[in-house]
Amino acid sequence: MEEKLPEDLANLSELDEKSLLEVLTGRFTQNLIYTYIGDILVAINPFKYLSIYEKEVSERYKCHEKKSLPPHIFAVADRAYQSMLGRLATGPKNQCIVISGESGAGKTESTKLLLRHIMELCKANSQLEQQILQVNPLLEAFGNAQTVMNDNSSRFGKYIQLRFQNSSVKGAKINEYLLEKSRVVHQDEGEQNFHIFYFMLAGISMEDKEIYGLLDPTRYRFGQEDVVQAWRVKYAEVCNAMDMVGFEEQEKVDMMTILAGILSLGNITFETTDSDALKVSEASRGWLKATAGQFGVQEEDLLKSLTCTTSVTRGEAIQRLHNQQQAEDARDSIAKVAYGRVFGWIVSKINELLAPKVDCDVELNEIGILDIFGFENFAVNRFEQLCINLANEQLQYFFNHVTWKTLSPMPPLFQDLFLTKPIGILSLLDEQSAFPQATDRDFVDKLNSKFKTAPNFEVVRNHTPLFTIVHYAGKVQYNASGFLEKNRDTIPANIRELFINSVTPLLSVLFAATISRTGTLMPRKAKVRCIYNIYIYFDIPHSLAVLMEKMFAAGPHFVRCIKPNRSKQPDQLDSKLVMDQLRYNGLMETIRIRRDGFSWRPAFKEFAERFMSLFCVVRVCLILDCVSCVDYRARICRRRYLSLLAEIWRQRQAQREREEREEEERR
Ligand code: ATP
Ligand code: MG
Repeated sequence: MEEKLPEDLANLSELDEKSLLEVLTGRFTQNLIYTYIGDILVAINPFKYLSIYEKEVSERYKCHEKKSLPPHIFAVADRAYQSMLGRLATGPKNQCIVISGESGAGKTESTKLLLRHIMELCKANSQLEQQILQVNPLLEAFGNAQTVMNDNSSRFGKYIQLRFQNSSVKGAKINEYLLEKSRVVHQDEGEQNFHIFYFMLAGISMEDKEIYGLLDPTRYRFGQEDVVQAWRVKYAEVCNAMDMVGFEEQEKVDMMTILAGILSLGNITFETTDSDALKVSEASRGWLKATAGQFGVQEEDLLKSLTCTTSVTRGEAIQRLHNQQQAEDARDSIAKVAYGRVFGWIVSKINELLAPKVDCDVELNEIGILDIFGFENFAVNRFEQLCINLANEQLQYFFNHVTWKTLSPMPPLFQDLFLTKPIGILSLLDEQSAFPQATDRDFVDKLNSKFKTAPNFEVVRNHTPLFTIVHYAGKVQYNASGFLEKNRDTIPANIRELFINSVTPLLSVLFAATISRTGTLMPRKAKVRCIYNIYIYFDIPHSLAVLMEKMFAAGPHFVRCIKPNRSKQPDQLDSKLVMDQLRYNGLMETIRIRRDGFSWRPAFKEFAERFMSLFCVVRVCLILDCVSCVDYRARICRRRYLSLLAEIWRQRQAQREREEREEEERR
């Protein structure tokens, strides 16, 4: 008979790394991939089909008692849903589920399972439910790619907000973060471009191929792979999803033609003539013509955009000729920017479709699901890694805050080092990006002089502009080459004009538009500096701050995904790999605190808040004293209660003072 292993690690009597690993490994070998640590769910990727997601299983996880059934991702969905309906009396109505873990750990699969179960719980009207579930193939085709870590790796982060009126779902909204656009033009060894290129090249009909001006897959630098049968099926799936989302025929043709244009553009190469002038190589003249046709622009205009930059100084247009490297950079940035805009447009179309169709005075509650890349530390870490790690730093801060707020007040690194104005890393980056002559070296020199004594920063003496940040998950050395350019991410005026004048309606709309701070597409306004692609980079603190604000105000649920081995094999668990993930996820620490404290926090907060309106703080503490002695490890519990109460008390005081001040001002 199989040994019965604990389902909640917060209940382990003996707590050390060894026993923790033993339990997780033991459960994993019994195909028990889910384990609780209090109200956190640990999920180990099985890399194989398990019959735990069948209909009869999901039926059992509807309105169940937490302890009555084994740990499961459906239980998290159920808990979030019941909490949103106020059935568990756990504080705020809005809920957020934060899914974390390294690449290939199972975050996106968990997101899909959560969505599926929530749709079942609210007995969604079948059309909306289908639409919500079906946008996924579309998002994955354009936003996912095969990497060394994961055959279906999400190259963007997303926060899906499901909106409810009472118990029924009324709509959804997706926010996307940090699409890895550089993948369009460059893929490392063993990696691929975004799926859509392969799906399209494999699945397209002969007739459409001609319409879009596409050639054989082997002809393209940006998407060469042997065609796989499954891609044909995937392409049909994407086309179906586009119909369902409500793309018009012309929009689909435009979108595919832009993708074809990106592929042709990637094949353009340059050479210098004997007189040192730059020209498009003979072999790629055909590609230039094809690209111009696919983008709906004049061939000479496209050539000009690639070979020179035009800037306007005191009303006079000045042309600067590119060298070969600059021309290649211009080519790649056009491809990246065009792809980024198509992706952003798809997301905004999806949001239009899924927007709740209710009167604006109807109160809607929300369950948000966050599926965002884990912490990254590669051989070379660039601007993208800095952005991703900053996002993770904030999420870890959120996790710490929720989990052990009062016992282990960790200094929020990102606050000190990244976001402080005027001298945080990001504001220094913005400041340097604003100087056209500044270099990446200047930026690093500035960092070195400002932060040389900061505990989380290390100066690196090297010719290359390097610097090191000590993150919660370890030290990461960043190579700042290209930081300023990527942070600017501006499209030169002539490239923008080129596309605005395109006869392809979609391109001209996408480049004439700008994105508001809330992420919705809006018409271009004079003097609005924030164009679509810089929205994400420039506004990192802002977009994350908005997300954080939402999350802090919601009831939190955490799913920590663990990757059992690097070779993506079933039934294999690499102890060291798992241990590393448990450590940097903060899970070891969580177990200790959960064991010493209590494992369901919001009920207490609500309890405390309720009592606060009836009694003064001292009396509540006396009551809590009794409660904690009976049910919980008294000492720590009391400490946490007291600080919780003190915080609520402070907030109330501050609010009262604010109200008094306002009242006085009115008078
Ligand atoms: P990334 O950060 O690269 O996007 P991820 O954490 O989102 O990675 P997933 O794409 O969700 O990882 O999972 C990787 C693969 O692991 C899936 O394609 C699937 O094959 C397998 N997998 C994940 N979760 C499960 C599960 N619950 N059951 C079976 N297989 C799973
Ligand atoms: Mg993913």
